[in-house]
Amino acid sequence: MINNKKSNILLLFLIISITLAGCTSNKSSKELTLVKQEQLILGTFGSISAYSNSEKEGNEAISKAYDRIKEIENLMSTSIEGSDVYNMNKKAGVESIAVNPSTMEVLLEGLEYSSITKEAFNIGLGSLIELWGIGKDWQKVPTSEEIADAKKHIDLNKLEVSKENNTAFIKDPKILVDLGGIAKGYAVDESIRILKENGIKSGVVNLGGDVYALGTKTDGSKWRIGINNPEIGSSNSIARISISDKSVVTSGDYERYFIENGVRYHHIIDPKTGIPANNGLVSVTIVSDKSIDGDVLSTASFILGLDEGLKLIESRPGVEGLLITKDRQVYVSSGLKDAVEILDNNFKIVN
Ligand code: ADP
Ligand code: MG
Repeated sequence: MINNKKSNILLLFLIISITLAGCTSNKSSKELTLVKQEQLILGTFGSISAYSNSEKEGNEAISKAYDRIKEIENLMSTSIEGSDVYNMNKKAGVESIAVNPSTMEVLLEGLEYSSITKEAFNIGLGSLIELWGIGKDWQKVPTSEEIADAKKHIDLNKLEVSKENNTAFIKDPKILVDLGGIAKGYAVDESIRILKENGIKSGVVNLGGDVYALGTKTDGSKWRIGINNPEIGSSNSIARISISDKSVVTSGDYERYFIENGVRYHHIIDPKTGIPANNGLVSVTIVSDKSIDGDVLSTASFILGLDEGLKLIESRPGVEGLLITKDRQVYVSSGLKDAVEILDNNFKIVN
């Protein structure tokens, strides 16, 4: 997964540098210091920047934020032995297991989003995700029989969770829980909470494209977050969004994929068909107050397609979106128009 994302990781480096351009001098007028730490974490590239009273304070706050992200990875990874998700999947069809309250919180959000997104978002999609193996050693196009069989085991009614007891039980032994479409957003929100608790009022967290911009830059202006060019081989920002105290999350078909017989297969699977969503969209960006919502809604809108995706975005209070089609058309939700600036004139806002 990490190897496959090398180019993407470089891109993220670039974008975070663009974001922070204009505040490169280490000392601002308020004498705050810009501190930045980068890490490979949650299977992706993480970057946390924070303005702080001193380098020491800033580094301590950022380290604590990374500790929390690591904790979340150790609870919610499908592959880390002993994680809550690993244990749930191992005990599928056997027995209920105790889970950490944080895992419970993400499971409950995930379940709720299943109905909100007309089941486009499904945290029980693990058997299909494993079958495709995007980014894994075994990635390949499965047979239609394999897909049909895996699709029989994604029914979330078979996932029983008890908030009171913090327990979870997958009643079908072949269902696998996968929080890959939601845990990163949760981790961004949690790292922002930790930064704030440690006195940080201004900064940017970026976990593989799930971004939160805290406060404003030291001159009081908004942060400007770049939107990747979704075309393979491109590395520019096609637009930027000016925000403060908001999350910006993008899901795209260019992020993780493999090519077989000239066809590209990516990592966002439509539960209805069991194959990667292919409806003319190449990228969906969600602007929201919390990254967990942005993470889910970007993936779900990508699957639902332009019309249904935009409808979903407009129906959620406080949520805005920017959707890009294969033919370089950009659709922006009603409340976001003033915050978006196109940087690459090959792409046009059409609505
Ligand atoms: P990224 O991880 O690149 O930011 P997304 O946020 O769009 O991408 O999430 C994609 C991940 O979510 C996949 O790698 C997989 O683990 C999981 N996933 C794929 N399809 C779905 C789906 N329909 N519902 C829920 N999770 C999904
Ligand atoms: Mg997502």
